Amino acid sequence: MLEFSHDIHTHSVYSDGVGGIGDNIGAAEGRGLKLLGISDHSHYLTGRAFNRYIRDINRWKEESEITVLAGIEANITHSGVDVAAGIVEKLDYVIASVHLWLSDPEEYVELVKIALLDENVDIIGHFGASFPHIGYPSEESLMEVIELAEANGKAFEISSRYRAPDVGFIRECIKRGVKLAFASDAHRPKDVGNVSWSERVFKKAGGTREDLLFGEFL
Ligand SMILES: [Zn+2]
Ligand SMILES: [Zn+2]
Repeated sequence: MLEFSHDIHTHSVYSDGVGGIGDNIGAAEGRGLKLLGISDHSHYLTGRAFNRYIRDINRWKEESEITVLAGIEANITHSGVDVAAGIVEKLDYVIASVHLWLSDPEEYVELVKIALLDENVDIIGHFGASFPHIGYPSEESLMEVIELAEANGKAFEISSRYRAPDVGFIRECIKRGVKLAFASDAHRPKDVGNVSWSERVFKKAGGTREDLLFGEFL
């Protein structure tokens, strides 16, 4: 049983997930989550598709027994984060993630810095998911990332799917008051709420309710 039962990163049929919004919410309620965020991929949600998406989530917000938030997972590219200002106002939060396959961890860090300076972004998604494969950036670069997050009020998700970031990074976030949030990155309703790794590493790093981005809902 989770103490801080929330999941801010789930996908639905509005992008590459297989469940409807209601299916994800039903799964979250069944698992006793207090807060669920829907965060479909931004490149599926342009024009009318975005309007349908937000209308659907807002309808479920009223019907659901738990807190439901409307998010999005945007892509960090060399030319910026692909989320339009017009849609940001209708969302509760924006996750920005690197989905490009890069061979240089320092290049990865440079991309994340773009998102840390973007006023539309709230949370960095699965930071460092590819480091076990491409290698780790320098300690200095990691510290720069955390300092930028602190200065710009950005949060990091703790991804159970990718088991990232690592406990040392999370401990440093907590020390500096950088907020954190649990993320399953579920693409199927049955994976919604799979965040036990997130909570375990969060607690191991010394995290308490005050260190969670949406702690007031939990
Ligand atoms: Zn992602
Ligand atoms: Zn995702």
